[in-house]
Amino acid sequence: MNNDYDLVVIGAGSGGLACVQRAAEHGVRTLIAEPNRLGGTCVNVGCVPKKVMFNAASIAAALQDAPEYGFQLTVGALDWALLKRKRDDYVSRLNGIYERNLANRNVELVRTRAQLLTRHADGRLRVRLGERTVNAGRVVIATGGFPTVPAVTGAQLGITSDGFFELESQPRRVAIIGSGYIAVELAGIFAGLGSAVSLLVRGDRILRPFDAMLGDTLLAAMRGAGSQVVTGAAPIELRVEPSGARRVRLADGRELGPYDAVIWAVGRSPAVRGLGLESYAVSCDAAGHIAVDKFEATSAAGLYAIGDVNGRLHLTPVAIAAGRRLADREFGGMTGRHLEYHDVPSVIFSHPPIGTVGLSEAAARAQFGAAVRVFTAGFVGMYHALTTRKPRTEMKLVTVGAEQRIVGCHIIGTGADEMLQGFAVAVKMGATKRDFDDTVAIHPTSAEELVTMR
Ligand code: FAD
Repeated sequence: MNNDYDLVVIGAGSGGLACVQRAAEHGVRTLIAEPNRLGGTCVNVGCVPKKVMFNAASIAAALQDAPEYGFQLTVGALDWALLKRKRDDYVSRLNGIYERNLANRNVELVRTRAQLLTRHADGRLRVRLGERTVNAGRVVIATGGFPTVPAVTGAQLGITSDGFFELESQPRRVAIIGSGYIAVELAGIFAGLGSAVSLLVRGDRILRPFDAMLGDTLLAAMRGAGSQVVTGAAPIELRVEPSGARRVRLADGRELGPYDAVIWAVGRSPAVRGLGLESYAVSCDAAGHIAVDKFEATSAAGLYAIGDVNGRLHLTPVAIAAGRRLADREFGGMTGRHLEYHDVPSVIFSHPPIGTVGLSEAAARAQFGAAVRVFTAGFVGMYHALTTRKPRTEMKLVTVGAEQRIVGCHIIGTGADEMLQGFAVAVKMGATKRDFDDTVAIHPTSAEELVTMR
């Protein structure tokens, strides 16, 4: 067997698959190692099954609104097991498509964990794949991450987002611990599907890295929809009652519960253990993320790290874009090609959803001071003219300088998830407020408010 490869990729998630396939299209000899299901976090325990659940919760909201639009409905209970089975089947189909995509491009797939071994005398990198050792001109680490579980007493009585996707039945009372996007997405799904939700937040704000308007509006919407948001919540113990119900004890003495499920959503850690990074003295940050330069290159020649494991932006399209650009540069002759990490749009599939790109107002003011001017719009979308539910939509444009270049666009409200992509193109192209003003509105939509702000 020929054990020499131009590229070995470790981990067949979003970034690894994109990188290895693009490299194979450039005609080089490639191998990818993956012990688990193909597609990584996004396909198996992330974006994809999460979006299915977001859709289910959105359908539940529409069913609730339907009588107010004149429909006479008798709605039965949600068949959670059926929903899970159909969701799992969909994910399995995707796993199969990914396997065929690799075969079609002649990428060799090895179903095992990979570990780096010390470099050959001739400079090539060596990788152990079970019983086999292979040599590679370049190795890309794309091992992603896993949910962090803090070291508190009884922590194992809680589950993580991974466990959420394994739930065979719907917990009626759920506590979600965390304030980031995964926490608020899961909270919105459970609340939409009828569970009683408590969101346990360490400080008094959610979604802290984003524009403050987004978290503040979502917090109000969640409370308005009946979810409990517990602020100043620092859990120090989880315990289980004889009935199986869980309780959470906080540092300030409060005890919360009972809950049928407690979910840790307090961040993710990079999957670097057992990778053999020490063989290459690879630099990592304090949290263990592999340090890389703008070309995703580590401190060791020929060794790269893309996606969640390098700790930059934890998003599937970011991992994909980084992987493809790396392959284009290293094997496709596109000198200097790399991913720019600014103005990356992202959506939070909360209820209501959030779309955001560019600088928050606070970040823009810190960078540009008095040159910043902000435009806002707030309203109840027309869909809700006939409903008793009146969730607000809020929008913000952050502009800089006399030409009012748009450096931030932030939206929370129904449709924000599908609205943002096009506006992100405009922001990336350097659009000004004048460009937005000169664009004729589409009526009646919520999006039109973004081009009619004064
Ligand atoms: P991963 O997709 O995590 O893939 C890493 C792969 O490496 C895994 O398959 C793993 O088994 C494998 N591996 C690990 N160690 C080894 C080893 N030693 N040898 C071989 N293989 C190994 N992003 C979005 O853009 N939109 C969303 O809506 C979204 N929702 C999310 C919801 C949740 C609940 C979560 C957890 C994440 C979500 N994300 C979302 C983030 C997204 O899933 C990640 O950013 C993305 O999957 C990162 O891709 P990756 O290639 O870096 O790693």
